[in-house]
Amino acid sequence: MATQIQEATRTLKTHDDNGDDEQTTIIVSYDPATGEEVGRVSVASAAEVGQAVESARAAQKAWGALSYAERGRVVLRAREIVLAEMDAIAGLISRESGKPATEALMMELVPTLDLMNFFARRTGRLLRTERIDIGQYGLMGRSSRVVYKPLGVVGIISPWNFPWAIPLGEVVMSLMAGNGVVLKPSELTPLIGRKLGEVFHNAGLPEGLLTIVTGEGATGAALVEAGVDKIMFTGSVATGRRVAEAAARKLIPCVLELGGKDPMIVFADANVEAAAQAAVWGAFANAGQACASVERCYVHEEIAEQFTARVVELTRALKQGVGGHEGTDIGAMSSERQRDIVEAQLRDAVAHGARVLAGGGRGENANGSFHQPTVVDKVDHTMELMREETFGPVLPLMTFQTEEEAIERANDSPYGLTASVWTNNIRRGERVAERIEAGTVMINEVLYTHSIAQTPWGGVKLSGIGRTHGRAGLLELVAAQHIHVNRLARLPDLWWFNYTPRAAELFRGFARRFTSGSILQTSLLLPQMMRRLMERRRR
Ligand code: NAD
Repeated sequence: MATQIQEATRTLKTHDDNGDDEQTTIIVSYDPATGEEVGRVSVASAAEVGQAVESARAAQKAWGALSYAERGRVVLRAREIVLAEMDAIAGLISRESGKPATEALMMELVPTLDLMNFFARRTGRLLRTERIDIGQYGLMGRSSRVVYKPLGVVGIISPWNFPWAIPLGEVVMSLMAGNGVVLKPSELTPLIGRKLGEVFHNAGLPEGLLTIVTGEGATGAALVEAGVDKIMFTGSVATGRRVAEAAARKLIPCVLELGGKDPMIVFADANVEAAAQAAVWGAFANAGQACASVERCYVHEEIAEQFTARVVELTRALKQGVGGHEGTDIGAMSSERQRDIVEAQLRDAVAHGARVLAGGGRGENANGSFHQPTVVDKVDHTMELMREETFGPVLPLMTFQTEEEAIERANDSPYGLTASVWTNNIRRGERVAERIEAGTVMINEVLYTHSIAQTPWGGVKLSGIGRTHGRAGLLELVAAQHIHVNRLARLPDLWWFNYTPRAAELFRGFARRFTSGSILQTSLLLPQMMRRLMERRRR
């Protein structure tokens, strides 16, 4: 048996002794900070993905019939397991993705523990049956309500940058909504995906209801084809398009959480110290590999010098190193491929006149895939660095003079995930926020709102379609069924056959009076309605 490790894709193919007949493909997961192997998983074939979907569908029948409280108890047991193992889980996240373990605790564990608590206890209330006001139809003895039913099986495809928080939130919400789930975690962080499955297994989730299928893009593509009822995809725009095309061919819906190029606007009346600290954390947390990272910062020219100096000072004071080491602020980037993208964008910007004020290179930790936190100015919107998602620790600064100019610059992007506005005048902040094209706009805050389980998460423009989190996210995971009741079943409807001249006259009256929404106007139709009723009785 011969083996061949392909560093670039991190896959290991096994062959028989004469070198052909590929038998299995295994993903080898490495620590991007040290290059050490963390573990390996097998790649699920299309047939295995299909089996996972079938098992989830079979298990979902009983699961979907449980009450929200019963489902919630399993989720809360899983939560207890996560709490008991939180340092080990944070350590695994750190080793597989390169981020500091401390940061994994705060950005991945804390939000999901909160989310598990919230949806385990509140899904019943968020999805309770709704009576719908049907206006004047109600006067005719009719009533309508909407009940929310599970979709069936949800396929989740997730990225590597928040390898625990992103899939876990979607798994919990899908399960609480009564669905079965098949999750395809990123090929860069498959062990964390597997750990997530283990937690729910140990919490007593019914066998087959949740399966983790590890693999690369092909396994994700197989999941879209495998007969799931919905795809929840988080990743790049390019892959999102492919997923949407495949889902369209299958005629299944998909939610797409894609990239961002999130702007931060700092007005002259902002607290400069708080804004500078926020910009540094917002741009460099997770080594800048967050879809909601601060990717462009626009500072009012009156405070630009002071703000820039403080940002540079704070950036230089950050400690970069192995994520598991105490005191590390910034870890390695998750892959060398990602670092190459960042370096290429920086090179291009510098070639077109950008100035590096801090960082700019790989730093001392040249063995792992590190990139220093980097601050640049003298940038403009012709540069790739200001147009394309950088997804790395780079903070470009630009100045502006007027509110209008700041809004224009913020909106001059094909993306629209989040944005951040800094000002001491909250009314101005809100006014500006409403004019920014983004799924979320924070005033005097950056980056963190994905952590709030109660609020919708998602983008506009190229940043995506649909929502995760909050009630809007739950509604993506259920089918709304309208149930309509007629309590005056003894009386035939006035609009049924036959279409006599009297009927036509009444319908004209409906068009003029009933649709006006006025009960008074509609009441003027009563004599005509009575005549029509008598006419129908005589049939
Ligand atoms: P990616 O698009 O390369 O991969 C995402 C997932 O899709 C992986 O699991 C991958 O294996 C799978 N995949 C690849 N090809 C596929 C195919 N043809 N069919 C189905 N699945 C396929 O993204 P990534 O590099 O893992 O993640 C980084 C990107 O994710 C960034 O653009 C970032 O902005 C985005 N992101 C968005 C959000 C959000 O909420 N909007 C959150 C985190 C990350």
